[in-house]
Amino acid sequence: MTNPSLLILPGDGIGQEVMAEVRKVIDWIGAKRGVTFDVSEDLVGGAAYDKHGVPLADETMAKAQEVDAVLLGAVGGPQYDDLDFSVKPERGLLRLRKEMDLFANLRPAQCFDALADFSSLKKNIVSGLDIMIVRELTSGVYFGEPRGISEVDGQRVGVNTQRYTEEEIERGARAAFELAMKRDKRLCSMEKANVMESGILWRDVVTEVSKDYPEVELSHMYADNGAMQLVRAPKQFDVIYTDNLFGDILSDCAAMLTGSLGMLPSASLGAPMENGLPKAMYEPVHGSAPDIAGEGKANPCACILSFAMALRYSFDMGEEADRLEAAVEKVLADGVRTGDLLNEEGVKPVSTSEMGDAVIAALDASL
Ligand code: NAD
Repeated sequence: MTNPSLLILPGDGIGQEVMAEVRKVIDWIGAKRGVTFDVSEDLVGGAAYDKHGVPLADETMAKAQEVDAVLLGAVGGPQYDDLDFSVKPERGLLRLRKEMDLFANLRPAQCFDALADFSSLKKNIVSGLDIMIVRELTSGVYFGEPRGISEVDGQRVGVNTQRYTEEEIERGARAAFELAMKRDKRLCSMEKANVMESGILWRDVVTEVSKDYPEVELSHMYADNGAMQLVRAPKQFDVIYTDNLFGDILSDCAAMLTGSLGMLPSASLGAPMENGLPKAMYEPVHGSAPDIAGEGKANPCACILSFAMALRYSFDMGEEADRLEAAVEKVLADGVRTGDLLNEEGVKPVSTSEMGDAVIAALDASL
């Protein structure tokens, strides 16, 4: 049997620092759990631009297509702000998503008990929260044609088009139902079927797909009500499936229920590969944090938790994913905090690498 393969793209700024901590976890799994990953590492974003003059080299793109999963740190930085749009660091990330055809973006919003005070909502509303937002990522109003700004009757008119095919709605819906099957078997689909034809089609197609998943309880909600419900009573949800635009907004809203940017992982999944597992890229939600880059202050948990998602969805190692998530939870419960997680006087923050070491110690203790 061949080893599972992983392409690591640390990128820019704190991407480098947080990825070093994921490396420790990968080494730990090799040494203590007997699973060795074939890990290759390459450049993306500004780091790739500095070396190749483009934010993602063709060879790197080809490698990404071959491996079982890609893990990306972060891209960007002020030194690249004036570059031409076509070679900006973010273009590297977008190229990966587009050419790997990663159509389902998974954003978990999970509230670790030890961090419930960080939420802007009351502790009892968020404590124990564990929801998953699945956002359609490759279509909808961000891509639909016609688009642009033109002059009509003497004034400028801006146009974007919300356009979805049945197939686009269906493949994302299947990804969402599959996830719901592995969780609490509840799926809420959100659109605006009351005012948008694309929403009527969305509701129709999701209802059709639900016939293949009789165990999953399907509900529908208008996306504006969804936004209200997310801050009123977020624990009512298990999996939410929604389009590109609503998903962009609702997932950011849900993310903030849980507190810190340094804790948020994500996954983007595509079609199944030959091994039956989806093509996938995993990345923390945060950016390259130039304000703290190089200072050893970054919280590596979002990147470590992104790797946990890779264990679950790309390597079929759900138990090891549970173990890693529990290790992060234990470290937080023990009061270990990077600077972004501090809101009490007198608590000394740990460094990025001390946080990584604490997770490894918790993994050791779990055996
Ligand atoms: P950011 O996420 O990099 O930082 C926002 C704030 O959160 C900063 O104060 C930062 O110090 C803090 N922060 C973020 N992650 C943290 C962590 N792991 N630990 C501790 N603190 C953390 O967003 P920004 O400042 O708007 O953007 C900075 C650069 O990153 C820009 O070039 C932007 O384009 C890029 N960016 C990249 C991605 C990505 O690679 N997916 C996402 C967002 C922004």
